[in-house]
Amino acid sequence: MQRKLLPVFVLTLSFLVTPFNPAQGAVKYAFPVVGCTYTYAHSHHNYPATDILAKKGCKFVASTSGVIDEVNRVDKWSGKTNLGADRSGLYVSMIGDDGVRYYGSHLGKIADGIEPGVRVAVGDLLGFIGTSGDARGTAPHLHYGISWPTPPDIWWVRRGEIYPWPYLDKWKAGLNAYPAKAVAAKKAKVGEVPEQVGY
Ligand SMILES: [Zn+2]
Repeated sequence: MQRKLLPVFVLTLSFLVTPFNPAQGAVKYAFPVVGCTYTYAHSHHNYPATDILAKKGCKFVASTSGVIDEVNRVDKWSGKTNLGADRSGLYVSMIGDDGVRYYGSHLGKIADGIEPGVRVAVGDLLGFIGTSGDARGTAPHLHYGISWPTPPDIWWVRRGEIYPWPYLDKWKAGLNAYPAKAVAAKKAKVGEVPEQVGY
């Protein structure tokens, strides 16, 4: 009997000494566009992000569970001023339970009830794909960014700090992939609010 019980004892022990890491297991992920066909490249102009091309009105959903961070329902972009803060047009950002900020912009409409502080589950509707901001006149797409939480209006961090496409590839295939480590590494390298340079 002693020999039979030993493996059970070892298993129990390893469970007790393994720290629970919410970023590696409990958190689930989903592709941020549902109900439509889409395409995206493994590249982006000027800084890390992914543009997911899909028809106007396609659904933008929460990549994971978390809390809504910043929301903009008014398109203030003008080709004359082309201010960095306005290029996004309508957008939603959320802070995932993994501590990562997820952001989608150029939306045509924000979903009802999506306001800062609102809790969302993975797959919850956040908005609809459009051409707001400096996407006006271009093919409708979701500009998708992954970064870390900052004080409000730090748009040059919010728009994206690591390339989302490696994670999108996994989520599309129904697999989990965890951006928290890569986000923390980039933040440690450049600081929470780096100086805005370039575009
Ligand atoms: Zn983009």
